[in-house]
Amino acid sequence: MKPLVVLPGDPRHLRQKFGEFCFSPIVKGHGGFILRAMTKSSSAWGPGQSAQLYGVTGWGAGYFSVNARGHVSVRPVGENGPELDLWEVVEASLHRGLELPILLRFQDLLRHRVQELHRVFEEAAQEAGYQGGYQAVFPIKVNQLREVVEEILDAGAPYHHGLEVGSKPELFAALAMHRDPESLIVCNGYKDRAFIEAALLGRKLGKRIFLVVEKLEELPTILSASQSLGVQPLLGIRLKLSTKGQGRWARSGGEEAKFGLSTAELLQALRWIEECGMIHGVELLHFHIGSQIPDILAIKRAVREAARYYARLRQQGVKLRYLDVGGGLGVDYDGSSSSRESSINYTLAEYARDIVYNVLEICQQEGVPHPTLVTETGRALVAHHSVLVVNVLGVIRKTPVLVPCPNGNPHKLVRDLLELKATVNQGNLLEHYHDALQIKEDAQAMFDLGLLDLSTKAQIEALYWELLERILALYGARRSIPEELRTVKDHLADRYLCNFSVFQSLIDYWGLKQVFPVMPIHRLLERPTRQGRLVDITCDSDGQIADFVGPHGEVAPTLPLHPVDKEPYYLGIFLVGAYQDIMGDLHNLFGRVNEAHVFLDPDEPGGFYIEETIPSLKIREALSLVQYEAPTILRAMKTQVDQAIRSDVLKPTEGMLLLEAYERGLEGSAYLALGQNEKEPPLSKRP
Ligand SMILES: *Cc1c(COP(=O)(O)O)cnc(C)c1O
Repeated sequence: MKPLVVLPGDPRHLRQKFGEFCFSPIVKGHGGFILRAMTKSSSAWGPGQSAQLYGVTGWGAGYFSVNARGHVSVRPVGENGPELDLWEVVEASLHRGLELPILLRFQDLLRHRVQELHRVFEEAAQEAGYQGGYQAVFPIKVNQLREVVEEILDAGAPYHHGLEVGSKPELFAALAMHRDPESLIVCNGYKDRAFIEAALLGRKLGKRIFLVVEKLEELPTILSASQSLGVQPLLGIRLKLSTKGQGRWARSGGEEAKFGLSTAELLQALRWIEECGMIHGVELLHFHIGSQIPDILAIKRAVREAARYYARLRQQGVKLRYLDVGGGLGVDYDGSSSSRESSINYTLAEYARDIVYNVLEICQQEGVPHPTLVTETGRALVAHHSVLVVNVLGVIRKTPVLVPCPNGNPHKLVRDLLELKATVNQGNLLEHYHDALQIKEDAQAMFDLGLLDLSTKAQIEALYWELLERILALYGARRSIPEELRTVKDHLADRYLCNFSVFQSLIDYWGLKQVFPVMPIHRLLERPTRQGRLVDITCDSDGQIADFVGPHGEVAPTLPLHPVDKEPYYLGIFLVGAYQDIMGDLHNLFGRVNEAHVFLDPDEPGGFYIEETIPSLKIREALSLVQYEAPTILRAMKTQVDQAIRSDVLKPTEGMLLLEAYERGLEGSAYLALGQNEKEPPLSKRP
């Protein structure tokens, strides 16, 4: 590689200006930085290769791709809309004083999802001649953040997009946020008297708020509360369909489901309601067979079954107006468009058409009017809009960078390994692996018996991993690797230590092994040469990611990554807008991450502005959630410092500085500030 040009300036700015495609790597030279031309092999790598490697064309859904600078680009309003550079958005957020990890919310993307949902249903209805219309409600549990709910209600206002709640706190939030008298509030979940009364209060305000009967036992309370408050309730009934969903949430449907009325219970409920003179309030029929339904066939079956119930009840004189098909519309997390759990084998438009056509057909057969279709789509509305960006704090490699060099007369086992290393070739890969394994086991046995010293053991381990790396490299990509070596390969993968907590930010990966797309948000003009797994900063061995989306949507145990140098290395974890942040917990007291809310704006230099930032949970706040109040722990620290001063362990000035540092530290974030804040003075010197 020959130096190409010498440029003055900071390499980071140069990279930002010219991109990484012309010059790499950057080394310090005289009076500036020498930018060296890339080698032939890496120049064959471009945005297209990266996009394919990380499968972004599949899961990106037109919102995410790779731009010519080798950064991830975001098109919040779809393929034909304006394009943002994710790296620039992160830099702007850092500029605003946020630290990594950062959760970015693309509010325009959220609006676009809402509009798309209504567009596909409108088109399907028009095409089919469906007369009942369509309304949606957003299930708040999928993402309760006020800004998210507000954005959905705002974007959905022309379509009377309403809300779905499953608990009292959600209902209290919904009552306040909901303004449009034509949009619905649907109350699901088990309800007590207070829940029911709060909903009836909403009725008094003129809201179209439905109490959905989930089990027979709650009906008497609903009826008596309505009578004593003098309110005509709007009632819905949840069906227990025989159709099951599929995938991870299959048990939400089917005959053993936790919620819903069987046919006999349904008839019983209607009799009770009739006796109380409230039968004209029964307007909605509801089902929900689970979330992330991968196969469209399950949806069709459930819709047909429910439509049949609707038709029969209409024929019996129950004036149902709404058929609510619940949630379940999935997200293609792995981009494979298949019926695998982390994918879906249908599009948004197909989903809408299948619901509309199947209900239409059954209504025609049965001679009943078309109901207004309601969906409780959550996941598919909000998953795409947020991206978690984490920085890599360090890389843990299995093979030590520096192998201790055996000098003098090396141990016999070391000599054997050196011999294997020298003679390994395409013809003896597996045999050499077995021999090396034997040597490693012998060494362990000798060590256990006290016959091996530490430095010899270190040499053997280092040589063993080196040899294995060499063997795997010789297998290369040409041949399929034998089963027994495949686990070794995963073992050899680097551990990229990332500034986040799986328990806070990716709870469905931890709990359900739900895969989420992960990729670097920059350096995408550079061929990634390492294979890695991500480990988080919790002290839990479960705090890692070892399932990734491969080029064709297959799940892979490692992720291709770049070697980390002194420059910051940022990874994006995508499609995390549904269920993740809101269900995250306080494991290790990490808590909420920093958030930036990004809006498109053609007048701004990068095409966007950051309207709002939400700081991460402070250490003081996290502690207070588990009953350590700041004054109490400060007092406890002061007592200890005073004691140390009295017994001459500390000088009084030292003691005061220590206390001040502790107090200031409480106001900081729980996440690690390694790398990003190296310019800052140490804790005790900050103002
Ligand atoms: C969770 C839930 C939803 C949301 O489902 P998604 O698959 O996220 O769209 C809708 N309705 C009910 C009753 C739910 O419990």
